[in-house]
Formats: sequence, C-alpha cells, structure tokens
Amino acid sequence: MFDALVIGSGPAGLAIAAALCDEGLNVAGLAPVPPPVAWSNTYGIWCDELEPMNLTHLLSHRWQNSVAYVAQQKIALGREYGLFDNVKLQNYWLERCDRGKMIWHQGTAAALEHFADRSCVTTPEGIALSARIVVDASGHKPALLKRPKSDRIAYQAAYGIVGRFSSPPIESQQFVLMDYRADHLSSDERKAPPTFLYAMDLGNDVFFVEETSLANSPAVTFEVLQQRLEKRLAFRDVQVKEIQHVEYCLFPMNLPLPSLEQSVIGFGGAASMVHPASGYMVGALLRRAPGVAKTIAHAVENLNDPPARIATSAWQTLWSSDEMRKRTLYLFGLENLMRFDEQTLQAFFASFFQLPRSQWSAFLANTLSTPEMLQTMMNLFGHTTHEVRWNLMRSAWSDRALLWKVLVG
Ligand SMILES: Cc1cc2nc3c(=O)[nH]c(=O)nc-3n(C[C@H](O)[C@H](O)[C@H](O)COP(=O)(O)OP(=O)(O)OC[C@H]3O[C@@H](n4cnc5c(N)ncnc54)[C@H](O)[C@@H]3O)c2cc1C
Repeated sequence: MFDALVIGSGPAGLAIAAALCDEGLNVAGLAPVPPPVAWSNTYGIWCDELEPMNLTHLLSHRWQNSVAYVAQQKIALGREYGLFDNVKLQNYWLERCDRGKMIWHQGTAAALEHFADRSCVTTPEGIALSARIVVDASGHKPALLKRPKSDRIAYQAAYGIVGRFSSPPIESQQFVLMDYRADHLSSDERKAPPTFLYAMDLGNDVFFVEETSLANSPAVTFEVLQQRLEKRLAFRDVQVKEIQHVEYCLFPMNLPLPSLEQSVIGFGGAASMVHPASGYMVGALLRRAPGVAKTIAHAVENLNDPPARIATSAWQTLWSSDEMRKRTLYLFGLENLMRFDEQTLQAFFASFFQLPRSQWSAFLANTLSTPEMLQTMMNLFGHTTHEVRWNLMRSAWSDRALLWKVLVG
C-alpha cells in the first residue's frame, strides 16, 4: 500500500507528486500516459511569480516589453513575462519524483472505493492500487472527484498559431497580454462577446498569436476565434507563411468547488484551482503544492486515520475559509467581466492596469489577503469611469447577499 496515489500526469499531478515525495512519502502515480509526457499547451507566467521560488531558469523566453492595448491606449505594463520550457518544468518535478523513488502506473482511474485504512482505485484494465489517500489531479473533468452541477460554466477559449508571417504581427521582442483593438470588426461583430489578441515574439521570426475569449458562457467557438484572428491579421496586412503549431485552448474558469466532504483530495483543475478572473494556474500549483503535501504528510502519520480524515485536513489547507472568500470575490469579478459590453470591458482593464503595479500583480496571482483584495477593488472603483462604476454598483446590488458573506466572514 502507498501513502499517496496521484491520478494524472499533467502539471497539477506532477506538482503535487513532487511535493509529496519531498515530504518523504511513498507515492505512486496513475495516468493513461505516464511521464515524461509531451505537453502541447503553451504555459505563460509573470516572472515575478517565479523569482521568490528561484525558478526563472524554467523559462524558455522572457519579455521585458509587455503591453496591453485597451480603450484606445497602449499601456506599458512594466512587468516581465515568461514562457515555460515545458521539458524543464516537467523535469523540475520529475527529478523530485525520482528522488522519492515514485512509481508511475499506466492506466485510467475508473472507480474508487474507501476502506477504514485506505482507498483503492481500479482501472478498466484490471489494475488496483491502494493508498492511504488518493489525490485526483486528472484535470478539469476529474475522474473521481464529485462536485455540484452548474449550468453556467464560463470557459476561456482561444485559437492560436505559432509560425512565421509575411511581416511581424507585433513589435519585435514584445509580449502583448491583451490587444482589444477591434477596428477590423463590423459593428455587428463588435456586439458579440469581445475577444483579444495574446501574442509574443519567440525570436528567429517566429511569433505566437492567439485570439482569446477571456471567459464566456457558452464558450466562444474555435471557428469564431480563428475567423477573428485571420481578420485581425489581414487588417494589419499580415499573412501567415508557415504554421508550426496550432493551439486549441478551452477550459472552465468557474467550476464549482468540489464537495469538501469527500474522502479523496483534488489538486489543479480537478480542484477548481484555475484563477477565476484570469485563467492562470501554474503559479498557484508551484506555490500551493508544498503546503498541501505537508498537511497530507502530517495526516498520514496517524496510522489509524481513515482516508476521510486525511482528506478533510488537506481540503482545509487547499480551500481554507479565507481562500473561499477570495474566490467569491474573484467570481464576482468574473461575472462582471462577462456582463460588460466591449467598451466597458476595455475601460475596466484600462483602470485595472493603472492601479499600482504591486496591487494588480498580486490580484492576478491571488497573493492578496481578503482585506487587501477589497482595498484593491475599492481603489479601482474610485478611479474608473462612470460607466464601469455604474455597472459594478448594479452587480454589487444584485450580488449583495454573496458580497455580504465575504464582508462579515
Ligand atoms: C491550451 C491551454 C493553455 C493554457 N495556458 C496557461 C498558461 O499560459 N498559464 C497558466 O497558468 N495556465 C494555463 N492554462 C490553464 C491550466 O494551467 C491548464 O489547463 C493545466 O494544464 C491544468 O493542469 P491539470 O494538471 O490540472 O490538468 P491537465 O493538464 O488536463 O492534466 C490532467 C492529467 O490527468 C490525466 N487523466 C485524465 N483522466 C484520467 C483518468 N481517468 N485516470 C488517470 N489519469 C487521467 C490526463 O491524461 C493528464 O495527464 C492553459 C490551459 C490550456 C487548455
């Protein structure tokens, strides 16, 4: 029997597996494709999220020139952005798994049974693995975790190409976090959910350009995103000369929290860890895995404790009441972003990026305390346009019960 069984070999599975191995636990993994795995997603992150962990060496590219185009302004963000080298990121976690002599099994978790002293996961291929605690890190559609149903899931969707172009689609050595300029769209198209360009110069005349819908329910389709990207490039007289990689990005932003009473713990997309207002998660995986692993290591020391008790401690660390309060505020933010029309959305972002950099950075990384987060939101409210303020007030009134819960704890 293992101390912990990790389901999934995506970023979340490897992050938590490495942290559990660091704690000296006897860990096993189960995934349809055991690592090393080729991850095709392009994972970006702000460099200052990696600096405190001394992990900037995991990046393949860095950009000092980071900008946003919103509300007829080009805003210099003054913050360095990076792109992970997926092999380095994976090796960083796998080396620690290897040091812990972790074993990966090939298979698909299909069923879970709990006993007094262990949980047992079985696969259709007939594998049965037992552990004191199971960590479901099988992504946004988890294999084992249960969560309440929701009929209003918002998705981030994007269609992107890595390739060469007839002329540079963005400035040399630039990273564009969001370009909401929409002069290439007809007035009817501008009434549809807004999308923006996320783009980076990868060097050697190669660029990554991605048309992105921050969040919408239902998701903006890949067809619409592709058409919009093509229109945007054509408007700038840029033709695609060579496609090296196409990215189809689709993931939920506001999955309800899994039920925290279950005897299995989740991590990553499975545990609703995606930042509901930005869609980022890799930074959170790196920051949060050690704390969750420590709690699990501590809990399994008590040999008589059943999986339910170990899971309860881990859930309390991952989703403490303070983390849940902050999540409520982020969800409030997300609802507003989806309700705004294109102009209001752009005005909102212009105000957001004019906040002190330390505030908007920490808001996006989820490293503010609840009072600091409220302060940041009030700051924005005080400095934004009448239109945005009016919309925020309307939302605050309709969501007053929810916000009251945050304020009174
Ligand atoms: C295209 C794209 C780009 C993104 N870009 C960024 C970014 O730039 N920065 C950022 O921070 N976030 C980004 N995200 C968001 C988020 O970080 C990713 O979705 C991330 O991959 C989620 O990690 P995960 O490990 O939870 O899930 P996944 O990466 O989906 O991994 C799940 C793992 O579980 C395995 N699995 C599934 N079912 C089973 C089963 N039944 N049994 C066993 N194993 C199973 C899968 O094979 C896989 O190994 C992006 C997402 C996408 C889709």
